[in-house]
Amino acid sequence: MKPVLALVGRPNVGKSTLFNRLTKSRDAIVADFAGLTRDRHYGNGRQGKHEYIVIDTGGFEPDAESGIYKEMAKQTRQAVAEADVVIFVVDARGGLSAQDHDIAKYLRRLGKPCILTANKAEGMKEGHQLVDFYELGLGEVYPISAAHGQGIRDLVDLALAPLNLAAPEDEEEGVDIGVTKLAVAGRPNVGKSTLINTWLGEERLVAFDMPGTTRDAISVPFERNGHKFELIDTAGLRRKGKVFEAIEKFSVVKTLQAIETCHVVLLLIDATQGVTDQDAHIAGYILESGRSVVLAINKWDAVDAYQRQLVMRSIETRLAFLKFASMHYISAIKRQGLGPLWASILQAHQAAMCKMSTPVLTRLLLEATAFQSPQRAGMFRPKLRYAHQGGMNPPVIIIHGNSLEHVTEAYKRFLEGRFRKAFNLTGTPLRIQMKSAA
Ligand code: GDP
Ligand code: GDP
Repeated sequence: MKPVLALVGRPNVGKSTLFNRLTKSRDAIVADFAGLTRDRHYGNGRQGKHEYIVIDTGGFEPDAESGIYKEMAKQTRQAVAEADVVIFVVDARGGLSAQDHDIAKYLRRLGKPCILTANKAEGMKEGHQLVDFYELGLGEVYPISAAHGQGIRDLVDLALAPLNLAAPEDEEEGVDIGVTKLAVAGRPNVGKSTLINTWLGEERLVAFDMPGTTRDAISVPFERNGHKFELIDTAGLRRKGKVFEAIEKFSVVKTLQAIETCHVVLLLIDATQGVTDQDAHIAGYILESGRSVVLAINKWDAVDAYQRQLVMRSIETRLAFLKFASMHYISAIKRQGLGPLWASILQAHQAAMCKMSTPVLTRLLLEATAFQSPQRAGMFRPKLRYAHQGGMNPPVIIIHGNSLEHVTEAYKRFLEGRFRKAFNLTGTPLRIQMKSAA
């Protein structure tokens, strides 16, 4: 079954232009006035081995009372219902509008994976002008230019990532990852209990009691979107009846134990505080443990544009070593941005269990060295010959060759980037080891 992507957004933001890009067809008519593409358009698209279906919706008017707008709203809802992933298009130049807010509200309630895309971003300084869009409570904003074809490949990768997890290459076998053990970590007061209670209060998340659960040991199995999760004992939390309660004493040992036991750590950061020393320490433990990680910046509702900039900068500088993790801006209390967390958590677990065959790894390695060869060190030029997988959870790649001790850190990072991209390893640490022959 091909995954379905739905393009949603108010008129004139560039949906039909994007549709054309994604389907490389000329089905949709692009013109410079609002509301021209009124019909739902379906198209086929392909990126690499991955095929998908795109639906272009008319302009979205959630509150339209009558006439064609009402019909458009109905069609849009239908398109969205049929989609696996919603691409919500906003106008990076026109800025945020009331309509964008209405659509965002609708999409948040829907709880489907949703990618917030700021179109017409060609030639814009990165980040700066997009900050406002975080207000929509849908997390990360992805700048693209549909007209100039910028950012489109990454957008498709991102949209398909949670859907095509098992098959980055034909040769690879899908791994049945079983139950995903999840630890929600973070220092006191970041909102761990609020988030967990919000989750457990949702009807779609079926929590059930497991016999033998003691009062101290928290372990809540639940199902979400057909996948089994287990919320494991998390530092500083205690289960009291049906809800979780924060306990005053924060225990590093408990945090470490939780990290060791789980598959994926959801690390919460308090947006009102930025990244503190304690956050950076916990993040360091997670990295050392080799566990997969998803970052969530909580209390996004409580900070203004200026504070948002500060938080984003503190993450860039203090948590730079977690660049491999996906990041979400959320509000546990207002239930904003929570839906996409699940896809990222699942993705992170699957990435950790990724199987990489020797032929594919070796081909990627040789392609990488052909693209850019490692630097000579005096008499020696490192020769990278083949690669194989040395472990899972986290994935380890072992590279064999000669004079590999001269491979620079920068070159290892370059290789890491290529492997990560090819195997879709977002969320998991990746270890690369060099083994020189003699
Ligand atoms: P729709 O109503 O959302 O389907 O929007 P259209 O695809 O019809 O585009 C509306 C207008 O925006 C057209 O004039 C497009 O040429 C223009 N447009 C679309 N994408 C881009 C882009 O990436 N950059 C700029 N500058 N204009 C764009
Ligand atoms: P824990 O110690 O990590 O479990 O944190 P709690 O869940 O007990 O939350 C600590 C405080 O932050 C409480 O007063 C919550 O109401 C508040 N809080 C939690 N999530 C949010 C949020 O998304 N936005 C805002 N503004 N406050 C929040």
